[in-house]
Amino acid sequence: MYAVLCWEIAQQQFSACLPGVRPVTIGRRATCDIVIDSPLVATEQAQIFCRRDRFYIRQLSRFVPLCVQNEYELPYRGTVALRDGAFMTVGTVRLEFRAMQVAAAPRKVRCNHCKNLLDVTHENCLWCGTSLAFGELMPLHEFA
Ligand SMILES: [Zn+2]
Repeated sequence: MYAVLCWEIAQQQFSACLPGVRPVTIGRRATCDIVIDSPLVATEQAQIFCRRDRFYIRQLSRFVPLCVQNEYELPYRGTVALRDGAFMTVGTVRLEFRAMQVAAAPRKVRCNHCKNLLDVTHENCLWCGTSLAFGELMPLHEFA
């Protein structure tokens, strides 16, 4: 289980691997595991950690807000689970989270009609024949 954090500063792309086996600190200070070289980012901004195959981000700065999905600011010491494709903003720096293994893993799809789980390779439900085009995609780890 690992993930990748991507960000952009002045049109330059950066990315760093999140191995998942230990927490990773993010910030401007050189001693952080992931150094984001922007004056808008706190010396120690956040921590990303993995628990039971899910990644979480925890706000470590009291003063520099970290906004999740442009929706809400994480409170100091506040934690939120990260889905694949989740993005966060600190000042004008945008961070994007990619959960590599979850994204690459085979997934199942739940039939809208009979609620059975099928492999995503099927076009129609084997049980009731309903098209799976609008079925709900389930990441593998949710029922493994
Ligand atoms: Zn069905």
